[in-house]
Amino acid sequence: MSEMRKLINLLESIDKGESYKINGITVIDIDDFVDKNVDEDIDEGKYKYPQGMKGKGGADQQQNPAGKGQKSQKGAKNRKQRKAFRKKQRAEQHAARMRGEIDEAPEDEMLGAVTAPFKGQELQDYLQRIKDKEKSKSDKFGKPYIHGSNIEIIDDASGRKFDTDKLMALVMERPKVILKQNQKMQHSDGTSSVFYNVGLPALKGLAVNEKKKEFVIVNTCPGAGVCKTFCYAMKGGYVQWKAVSMGQSRMLNFLINDPAGFSGQMKAELTKAEKKAAKKNDKVIVRWHDAGDFFSPQYLALGYDIARSFPNVDFYAYTKIASVAQGEKPDNFRMNYSEGALRSQEKQIDFIKTKHSKVVPLDMFSDLIAREGNKLIKDDKGRQQFASEENKQEFKQRMAKKYVIQVDSILTYDEMMATPVSDAGMVYNIIVMPGDGDDSANRPDVLGSYLLFH
Ligand code: SF4
Repeated sequence: MSEMRKLINLLESIDKGESYKINGITVIDIDDFVDKNVDEDIDEGKYKYPQGMKGKGGADQQQNPAGKGQKSQKGAKNRKQRKAFRKKQRAEQHAARMRGEIDEAPEDEMLGAVTAPFKGQELQDYLQRIKDKEKSKSDKFGKPYIHGSNIEIIDDASGRKFDTDKLMALVMERPKVILKQNQKMQHSDGTSSVFYNVGLPALKGLAVNEKKKEFVIVNTCPGAGVCKTFCYAMKGGYVQWKAVSMGQSRMLNFLINDPAGFSGQMKAELTKAEKKAAKKNDKVIVRWHDAGDFFSPQYLALGYDIARSFPNVDFYAYTKIASVAQGEKPDNFRMNYSEGALRSQEKQIDFIKTKHSKVVPLDMFSDLIAREGNKLIKDDKGRQQFASEENKQEFKQRMAKKYVIQVDSILTYDEMMATPVSDAGMVYNIIVMPGDGDDSANRPDVLGSYLLFH
């Protein structure tokens, strides 16, 4: 089964409230599966428990020392209460953070990022597991990705096995460029757009608290739910090459230690990009975050300030944080809420008013796609396609019914590209096939982008 299909199955299970089997393990309650990280955060002391609400070995268990291994009704009730409490606390804390009501001094110093120190034996042990290729699942979701080739072995008198000073110096180097040019897209009206990317490490990033000269783990995707189990940015080219992951760490480190410097450099690069594009009458478009998210209100404010300084540049991003997706934003910044977030975030989204992207279940379109046996028959641009015009129309009907949208609001990606941008608000819903571009995420007249991954 492909990774994308696994993701789709999981999303469908969540949609139906069903359990799902992954890697041979049945996930009884998707929330338990997704919320695992919260326990790690609790262990790191980020969420404070009132008395009687502690986790492993906490007060509730001490009150019942003979109850080891018992699944009493009381125990089940306590577990439910703890789970409900954790969810409520996480939602409240996150909402307060996004409203700027929580003032945590050390985190405020680092652009409001939630960080945890990463040092001493814990760091040395983790580097050892990377070198031995023995990382655990909790390493994958709870620790930042570090490419093995960026870790040098030493054996110094203090007993350190790995050169953390050298690693720190690498991370603290400032990136030469922030904006990575991605692609150029030709539009049907003869104009073209030049796309640039700004990327951070996905989920957990490695950075340095430059005042304290110590490593920190930064939570770069606070809204991530099930998406983290299949995150495209935690594999492939993002982790294969040592320069790519180090580049992302440097970007994050620059951003949280010197936000003003980061903003200044990005503005200088954008000024240059705009001048270059103007010579060819091109439009500059910036996709913020091919990985990562707006992890704090301070970071979001920095992004919006840059957007306001460049009214002729379009900015867009995907987010899994409800308040970011639905909050006020500059006119030239399009935010797309994307599926795979924590349920606490998903529940807050009004899909009628919020620009979003969704993954369409395979059984809704599989029978309508052009194929010969199991092989897809692709179009002249190498993209998956409907077998006929009738099949395309049938899919639009199914989509309208499933998502309760008007059938005439649904366009294929090519139909959208041939349609002038409407000034009537978000009036279109777009079918996006693998191989199509990302234009629907940036168009002001598109409400939903529906992804048909096979
Ligand atoms: S929010 Fe995006 S980048 Fe972060 S873990 Fe999920 S899919 Fe990956």
